[in-house]
Amino acid sequence: MTTSTITLKERAAAAIAAVPTGLYINGQWSEAASGARTDVLNPATEEVLASIADGGPQDAQRAIEVAAATQKTWGRTPPRERSLILRRAYELVMERQEELALVMTAEMGKPLAEAKGEVAYAAEFLRWFSEEAVRIGGDATLSGDGKTRILVTREPVGPCVLVTPWNFPLAMGARKIGPAIAAGCTMVFKPAHLTPLSSFALTQILAEAGLPAGVLNVVCSSEAGSVVGPWMSSGLARKISFTGSTGVGVKLLEQASEHVMRSSMELGGNAPFIVFEDADLDAAVEGAMIAKMRNMGEACTAANRLFVHRSVADDFAARLAARMSSLVVGDGIAEGTQVGPLVEEKALRKVEELVADARAKGAAVVCGGERVGNAGFFYAPTVLSGVSSESALMSQEIFGPVAPIIPFDAEDEVLALANDTPWGLVGYVYTRDVERGFRVTEALEVGMCGLNTGLVSNPAAPFGGVKASGLGREGGRVGIEEFLEMKYLALPRA
Ligand code: NAP
Repeated sequence: MTTSTITLKERAAAAIAAVPTGLYINGQWSEAASGARTDVLNPATEEVLASIADGGPQDAQRAIEVAAATQKTWGRTPPRERSLILRRAYELVMERQEELALVMTAEMGKPLAEAKGEVAYAAEFLRWFSEEAVRIGGDATLSGDGKTRILVTREPVGPCVLVTPWNFPLAMGARKIGPAIAAGCTMVFKPAHLTPLSSFALTQILAEAGLPAGVLNVVCSSEAGSVVGPWMSSGLARKISFTGSTGVGVKLLEQASEHVMRSSMELGGNAPFIVFEDADLDAAVEGAMIAKMRNMGEACTAANRLFVHRSVADDFAARLAARMSSLVVGDGIAEGTQVGPLVEEKALRKVEELVADARAKGAAVVCGGERVGNAGFFYAPTVLSGVSSESALMSQEIFGPVAPIIPFDAEDEVLALANDTPWGLVGYVYTRDVERGFRVTEALEVGMCGLNTGLVSNPAAPFGGVKASGLGREGGRVGIEEFLEMKYLALPRA
């Protein structure tokens, strides 16, 4: 262990110790009504990092009642006031970028450099929506017969239920909390129990930035349904904004139907990454490294199926394997680490099973293909070639550092393969032919496309999918609309 690693570990321990570990309701940190607590583990070492309050139905009820009671006053605050809170929170997050990144790496596993990148990405949502808070628009028109003035204004939708996954522990919360604050909505928020500390740290920062008590209420639980269920059935929440798997999203949509709640769903993906024969192969390999390896492959945007034209497939596989096998796997806090552990044992087992299945169905391992070490949940960056369309990883999110390469011969063929999935979050296309670039990206059934780039996430852009990948968009100019309701006022005109 180097001196710099020891120092970083000490700093990480101090940063974790400074994060509150209770429930946050009405501006107060408290224990769960049951007194229960649950542990948060470090996936690189399997050590316990912290113990947090384990919320249940009673806590959920208290939180939603506070959010509902606070909505009226909060919804009437001047937009500039809400904007300044978000702006101050943005500045505080950036001031504490290092500390927040250390907490995130410890609880989730991603390398420290990536964690710092996520902190900046999360902060940008706070800044972006601080700017949107004062730009909420309306509309004034005349009816066709000229007899009615039509005034359209926008109001906060009301108390919101926010539920986020573990893979981007800070950004997924910021992408919802930012627009909710900007729009004037109160919130009950349940972060993933595997990675709650980043959300607690953000909550602490928002309070410091001046967010009034009762606006944001946070309850984490080892039994998600015991907290989110009561919120959905309470009749007090007007909206659900969820990021996570399609399976859970569908359950929440069913629950939302009881009270006809507005629903935003950022769900799973099965992204095609298409490389045509005329592509700049160096750029395509670079793009694949980003689209596949960001977050160790644990991203909804991860390239899940790499379709490469048969004439360049072997060359592409060899170049990608050279890059993948040179990556340094290890504890995300250690200097030089490029690939951290998967988030938990179950995730590691799933990747092992998917690779075994692909091999049994004829795939060849070009590099990797196995677990690394015995402690921590590490899996080697892996390239598989000649993957059969019958393999389970073609129809499931891999959520790990595994790049399956599937050769294709014709544009129509690859489009049919790419669209042959219930999901439609993102697609990536590499070609030097501009006309083909437009044709193929237009034909892909996705909400987002990268043309000659492996990265689409951007706070200024509308993030979201079609088909089983979700409903609505987060970020960009439309992000705030998800938290606003239109009201139309009719005025007769003499
Ligand atoms: P998940 O299992 O669906 O969990 C997401 C959140 O829902 C967590 O907070 C989880 O709590 C909670 N949850 C689980 N069961 C629930 C239930 N019955 N009722 C209410 N809430 C429940 O997904 P994940 O494994 O955390 O995240 C990975 C998935 O998220 C992938 O499918 C990925 O593609 C997707 N994702 C999508 C986007 C996007 O923007 N489209 C972004 C990131 C991730 P606990 O974790 O505490 O159990």
